[in-house]
Amino acid sequence: MRRTVARLLRGLGLLRYDMLAREQPTHPDPASLPAGELVVVRDGEHLKWACMRCPGGCGAEIKLSLNPVRRPRWTVTQDWFGRPSVTPSVHRKEGCGCHFWIRCGQVEWCRGGHPGGDGVPATPRGPVPPAQTDRRLWPFLSENRASRTP
Ligand SMILES: [Zn+2]
Repeated sequence: MRRTVARLLRGLGLLRYDMLAREQPTHPDPASLPAGELVVVRDGEHLKWACMRCPGGCGAEIKLSLNPVRRPRWTVTQDWFGRPSVTPSVHRKEGCGCHFWIRCGQVEWCRGGHPGGDGVPATPRGPVPPAQTDRRLWPFLSENRASRTP
């Protein structure tokens, strides 16, 4: 029902999203994983995986572990419409090299993280500017620097 409302509002130009989340108990068949869906595999109370097709155009299946004891792991939240937000960002270091955030169901590309999409090489040269990195990292880094100062 909420998905129907979301689709309707998107059709009217009142809501924006690239993908909606859907929960199911089993792992989706990679061949039938639809683009524009983030499939959350849930086993009872436990969120296990988030699966989607790479939004960069290659169509590869991306599986993100939601298991809190695994590393790396991701967190998925949803708003009322089922638009997912995923933290931290998704970076495919092998294959297409796509690097993006998913916020409120919208794909936000990191600089150089959309091969062929913005004409920027997939591998960023030099340090990534602060705005593009995981914000949680920065307080930690500055604390570190402060503690080394006599
Ligand atoms: Zn890709």
